[in-house]
Amino acid sequence: MRYPRFIGAIAFIALSMMLSHAALNSALGEASSAPAAKPKKPECNPATFQVVVDVGHTEEKVGARSARGAGEYEFNLRLAKRIEQDLVAAGFAKTMLMITTDWKRTGLATRAERANRLPADLFLSIHHDSVPDRFLEKWEYEGEERGYSDRFKGHSLFVSIDNGDYKGSVQFGKLLGKQLKERGLAYTPHYTEKFMGSRRRVLVDPETGVYRYDQLIVLKSTKMPAVLLEAGSIINRDEELELRWPERRALISESAVDAVIDFCALRGRRLRPIATTQHARPAKRSGLLPRTQ
Ligand SMILES: [Zn+2]
Repeated sequence: MRYPRFIGAIAFIALSMMLSHAALNSALGEASSAPAAKPKKPECNPATFQVVVDVGHTEEKVGARSARGAGEYEFNLRLAKRIEQDLVAAGFAKTMLMITTDWKRTGLATRAERANRLPADLFLSIHHDSVPDRFLEKWEYEGEERGYSDRFKGHSLFVSIDNGDYKGSVQFGKLLGKQLKERGLAYTPHYTEKFMGSRRRVLVDPETGVYRYDQLIVLKSTKMPAVLLEAGSIINRDEELELRWPERRALISESAVDAVIDFCALRGRRLRPIATTQHARPAKRSGLLPRTQ
């Protein structure tokens, strides 16, 4: 009986050593893996992140006229619908296409109020550009005399410093500008020129074509980040045709979707600490601008 008991004691000691070794290994393993923990995933939930895609102007008051006499509204509607569909397909199920029937000035405030009430996380207003009347030249299209200007082409992005989240607006504007640029689309630089007179704007980001347009109601009255995209110039005869192509709409829409995905991810990271602390709204005019007018 003594011998088996001796064996048993040896076996017990060996087992204890093995277990403590395993425990030590495990502890060391945990300790060594702790600093290399997985980087925090951006907390973006497309299912709850709500984007408003605002269709600029109304069916009654169509905005600018194209070189061939078409109303800006139809360009805005086609592109905004495409962006809405692509955002929903990318998982942003709460995306809202905002169509407004009130063509008066009150309709602009209504757009912002509706977005604020939701409340939306991001407001993207879709427009197509023209030029001041003094730049217009005449040509005949389908028997009618029309105004055109081939002088400028390209998109532009606008934000307002009076928006509820100016920093976020600039951030999204830059992301969208970057995506457009990566797809070979160039922004128009002419808004900085003196000849633009009252339409001259401050270029916030020369890399991506984000300008300031502080007075725009839909940008200054929205509490969430808001950007207005002039998707291109429909008064330019060539660009008008390009803007009618589904391929061009697809490029712009893909840019918008990728920018929203990036923005949602950035917002996710930023919002977490703010939610747990008393966060004062950052002061306006915080030096984000390289210069002012
Ligand atoms: Zn417009």
